[in-house]
Amino acid sequence: MSKTIYNFSAGPAIMPGPVLERARDEIRSLAGSGMSVMEISHRSETFGAILDSAERGLRELLAIPENYRILFLQGGATLQFSMVPMNFLGASETADYVITGAWGEKALVEARKCGRVNVIYSTADERHRSTPTQAELNFSRNAKYVHYTSNETIEGVEFKYDLKGGGSPVVCDASSNILSKRIEIGEYALIYAGAQKNIGPSGVTVVIIRDEMLEHVPDGLHSLLDYRKIAEHGSMLNTPNTWGIYLIDLVCSWLKGEGGVPGIERRNIEKAAILYDAIDESDGFYEGHAVRDARSLMNVTFRLPSAELEIRFCDEALAAGLNGLMGHRSVGGIRASIYNAFPRDGVEALVSFMRDFSHRNG
Ligand code: PMP
Repeated sequence: MSKTIYNFSAGPAIMPGPVLERARDEIRSLAGSGMSVMEISHRSETFGAILDSAERGLRELLAIPENYRILFLQGGATLQFSMVPMNFLGASETADYVITGAWGEKALVEARKCGRVNVIYSTADERHRSTPTQAELNFSRNAKYVHYTSNETIEGVEFKYDLKGGGSPVVCDASSNILSKRIEIGEYALIYAGAQKNIGPSGVTVVIIRDEMLEHVPDGLHSLLDYRKIAEHGSMLNTPNTWGIYLIDLVCSWLKGEGGVPGIERRNIEKAAILYDAIDESDGFYEGHAVRDARSLMNVTFRLPSAELEIRFCDEALAAGLNGLMGHRSVGGIRASIYNAFPRDGVEALVSFMRDFSHRNG
């Protein structure tokens, strides 16, 4: 039996054990076909059923209404930073961006290449530790859309409400908290998420888009960058990431068995509380990065009294089987990513390590 390793990586991240086991069992022969899912045509009936089932799974879990399309794309969430403005922001038009962390900053850079962008709120001056309230947001008149990042993975800062666009369509990068809690899909014109945290493996991106948005896509876009064309072809304009979509389908089945999104949300709240309590009860040895009401349930970020101690913390944690705790290279500190598939006993193991470490080094 190999030693237990708890994987706190921010993404690609831990996958549900039963999903990996099922994929292992089916790797040589999918549904008695004698072929691997990686070996069959994306146009086959067998794969068509998987694609339909993955879509149905997401639709059910997130209660996605019929007037929304679900697309499976490639290019990661990063390509969505470009596709959103290419599809919805003309050169003389305006979009609003709400910036609460590093991923929003990156989305902004790409949008500026397409049209006018108003940063209507930014937490950059305080190193992205909070989120605005709805009342603090003043939208531009005639904005084509407002873009925000519901969970900033690097800083560990999360919106606790579905942002409303004040009449503008809302576009949301939900890469690191999709499926982790209930959201009101009807508030959004478009949600995108790279799969590699809560939905599946890297290499596939989920886009949930309200039908009417497709009418605004300009003619003449390159086909693979054109939401309307991709939707018309049911995500099969070219060969999709068949393996990734297969795993998304398995993750959806797993999540349904875990009580769906409400069930996992309850557990996510409990897991995060255990960790944040340990931070708050450490007499200042551990200092959380995010302000309390913006604390992420998915990425728990904190600092130690010195960079040297942070390095020692990560080294010793690794030796104790706690992997992937080093904060993002751009901000340092510690980051514990505790996505849907991350077990509660792993959180408890980290907290007990933290208590021991602070007693020895405090
Ligand atoms: N947005 C968020 C919130 C992310 O966490 C990430 C990746 N960690 C990205 C965008 C970029 O995703 P990708 O690497 O799939 O392009």
